[in-house]
Amino acid sequence: MLRVDLLTLFPEMVENVVSHSIVKRAQEKGLVSIGVHNIREFSDDRHRVADDTPYGGGAGMVMKAEPIFGAVDALDHERSRLRIIVPSPQGRLFTQRLAKELSQESRRLVWICGHYEGIDERVLIRLEPEEISLGDYVLTGGELPALVMIDATIRLVFGVLGDATSAEQDSFSGSLLDFPHYTKPRTVRGYQVPEVLLSGNHEAIRRWRRQEALRNTHVKRPDLLQRESLTQEDQQVLSDISEERERVTSVSEGGG
Ligand code: SAM
Repeated sequence: MLRVDLLTLFPEMVENVVSHSIVKRAQEKGLVSIGVHNIREFSDDRHRVADDTPYGGGAGMVMKAEPIFGAVDALDHERSRLRIIVPSPQGRLFTQRLAKELSQESRRLVWICGHYEGIDERVLIRLEPEEISLGDYVLTGGELPALVMIDATIRLVFGVLGDATSAEQDSFSGSLLDFPHYTKPRTVRGYQVPEVLLSGNHEAIRRWRRQEALRNTHVKRPDLLQRESLTQEDQQVLSDISEERERVTSVSEGGG
């Protein structure tokens, strides 16, 4: 079972999210356990204050170190049994590859969510967590990024998704973006489902999906294609897609 703990000043923000949908079912199936812990409960202040003004002056508040140490110790006194992550815009970028790695982790996964100006640096010095970023922008707190990482990780735990292949064909799992999906009815406001998907011909459907995944990647994220080791069939599909796009462009430019 994958054990996940989240330390936060705002437990209500995360409790709601982890008690819905696939993440909820993963817990019910006993594949994952998620603990949400309020850092304020580990404050020795009688008002349960867990943040204070920054030394050196300046705007904003800083999360105090001691309540965080207390919350981590309450999970496990043995640091080596924990894999601690601090969401931070200063960290390395979160990726599908990292989500896969985390989904197979045997240590307890602990997310420490910063807020305000961030966390007292001594938390980073003492606990040496991994700092992980969602991207080059600054959010209000670590709760949303922690939830994003936890969600991406949990759906990769074996058995969480009903059909394991659905994660395998997701975007980024194999350097290609996903293919388009359609559901009932056949016609929506005049738009038809591609005929091949109704054919029952599994090989034709497989080829169409591969072709559309290649098309999606070529159009939306051509940078990913360079990393993909493409089969000859893929190369042929790609050159057909390029030619087709060039034809469409020259027709629309010619047509004015
Ligand atoms: N002063 C910090 C800095 O510039 O590095 C930013 C603090 S931010 C307002 C508060 C918290 O939000 C951070 O401690 C971190 O936990 C979280 N956070 C903000 N942006 C993030 C990002 N891009 N990725 C991951 N976590 C982020």
